[in-house]
Amino acid sequence: MVRDLSEDPLVRWQDRWYVPVGLARGPRHPARRGAPDRPGGRLPADRRVLRIVVSHHATFFINSLCHMIGRQPYSREHSARDSPIMAVLAFGEGYHNYHHSFPFDYRNGIRSWHFDPAKWLIWAMARLGLARDLRRASDVAILKAKVRVQYDRAKERVERAGEGFMEQGHRRLHEAYEALEKSIPRPAGDRAAGWPGAERRLPGRRTCRSKPCAA
Ligand SMILES: [Zn+2]
Repeated sequence: MVRDLSEDPLVRWQDRWYVPVGLARGPRHPARRGAPDRPGGRLPADRRVLRIVVSHHATFFINSLCHMIGRQPYSREHSARDSPIMAVLAFGEGYHNYHHSFPFDYRNGIRSWHFDPAKWLIWAMARLGLARDLRRASDVAILKAKVRVQYDRAKERVERAGEGFMEQGHRRLHEAYEALEKSIPRPAGDRAAGWPGAERRLPGRRTCRSKPCAA
């Protein structure tokens, strides 16, 4: 678990009591208050159930389909994957390979156009002074992780190419990778052995994303 989350008393309280709180409030509260399901009123009961089933399944795609569909550009040491389609279905959590590779980063989708409503909300809160110390992986750490994955993939392709070609191909590939790695500058603030954990901090209020998934 991310340490700053485990040290937050509100998060610890939620983690300890979420089952009784959910049982006590989840089914009853919206029904009692007559909360509208749509502008202008409530949906019929069967459609309310359908709405909850669809939205809950989409939410929990995070730990199912987000580990099955998409690419692995940052790490292949875990099964998480990046997919813009899953990002829409899972409300922004679809850039899941990045999330597992750099779990301290408040973003899932690192490009501004990547669909990630939580990232946009946290960023806006920071601009309003309601969040601070947003944490991001450094561009160099991200680049280094991507280069490592591409090197591993190229190595596997060389191995598949055949015995005769393998030894020479391996050597050349390794030399190219080492040259590329040396050419990537390492910022002074990054920890020497911290790849890919090197990070940079942005101004703003300390905050965190939702609880990290267990997978
Ligand atoms: Zn996951």
